[in-house]
Amino acid sequence: MIINSDLHVHSPYSMATSKNMLISTIAYQSKLKGLDLIGTGDAFHPEWLKIIESSTEPSKTGIYSVKESENGSKVQLLKTVDAPEIEAEKCKFILTAEIEDKNRVHQLIILPSIESAYEIREELPSKNINKEGRPRIDMDGAEIMDLVRDYNGLIGPSHAFTPWTSIYKEFDSIYNCYNDTPDFLELGLSADTNMADRIEELQDIPFLSNSDAHSPWPHRLGREFNEIEIKEMTFNAFKDAIKGKKVVGNYGFDPRLGKYHETGCVRCYQLFSIEEARKLKMRCPCGGLIKIGVKDRISDMAKWDEAHHPEFRPQYTHILPLAEIISIVYGKGITTVFVQKIWKGLVQEFGSEIAVLIHVPLEEISKTDSKLAEVIMAFRENTLKIQPGAGGNYGKIMLD
Ligand SMILES: [Zn+2]
Ligand SMILES: [Zn+2]
Repeated sequence: MIINSDLHVHSPYSMATSKNMLISTIAYQSKLKGLDLIGTGDAFHPEWLKIIESSTEPSKTGIYSVKESENGSKVQLLKTVDAPEIEAEKCKFILTAEIEDKNRVHQLIILPSIESAYEIREELPSKNINKEGRPRIDMDGAEIMDLVRDYNGLIGPSHAFTPWTSIYKEFDSIYNCYNDTPDFLELGLSADTNMADRIEELQDIPFLSNSDAHSPWPHRLGREFNEIEIKEMTFNAFKDAIKGKKVVGNYGFDPRLGKYHETGCVRCYQLFSIEEARKLKMRCPCGGLIKIGVKDRISDMAKWDEAHHPEFRPQYTHILPLAEIISIVYGKGITTVFVQKIWKGLVQEFGSEIAVLIHVPLEEISKTDSKLAEVIMAFRENTLKIQPGAGGNYGKIMLD
């Protein structure tokens, strides 16, 4: 079977994370989105682990579902808009965590069970592991990889090309970090397969596209996700699928919409060519720091000008959260009653947000909302005009 999964989210114990990020809410919202499997996030945080433990039950080995008693929690999108009524099995959970290593490189970890999270936790040297959802660990990438693999887990770099906390801000090769091949590489919001497949050393590594969501609402959860072909819903089958390169679809932002696509100033967001930026010694005339964009960082390391896709590499499809598309089309805020009502109507009618974005025939959407159908079509056909993001500022879609 093919499942939709988002393997990188954060709990309320990570900085700047919504207090609504609770297990039952995540499970419910993920289902509206159309996800089948979602990472718990922050699996080394003691309080969050307790919450995971008490609000889920093992479904199959290494996969967890929400306890019946937690279910009834009805979600209100806004004070005035109820969530859609959808009869569907709720999303399942797999244990995931992100940690910052001693080189300030973010590592994404996927674990076989709650027990293994407790055990690995005991072996992580960290001063802030009880405080931070994403702890800082005094180990390098290779040491963390060894530890995670001792417990049968999976590991790879998070948002691999971003300028602050990624593997490629620190190293020119993933092997300088791990001395070995990671199980996957997470592309991050500012890169896609066409960009990453210009780098020769990534030819044998599966790519993940995950949301890195800090709130449970469907315009964050699953804003990037993976289609994975899996034999059954167990951790071992999941691991086999990643190892066997059965990620069969990546979905996510057009990389130009990411916050660090182009090289730009973190204070005034002005864009610079990489030559210009280097001439200015990475300092903007406004006084702000210029951060090298993902596009230029990839070009630094690329062997080819065009992508060389290995045979197993799936298509990368550009999407944007439905509420964000509605918000752009009608010029109203994502969390307004106006936008949320349209969102609710579409999800109610077609079953999930992913169905609307990717699977439902456009004529069907057109019957409900022709203006919206046009923009969804532009996404599906990749014909959008975009003003690229830089310096920490998201890119923007330009409608005619
Ligand atoms: Zn991160
Ligand atoms: Zn500036």
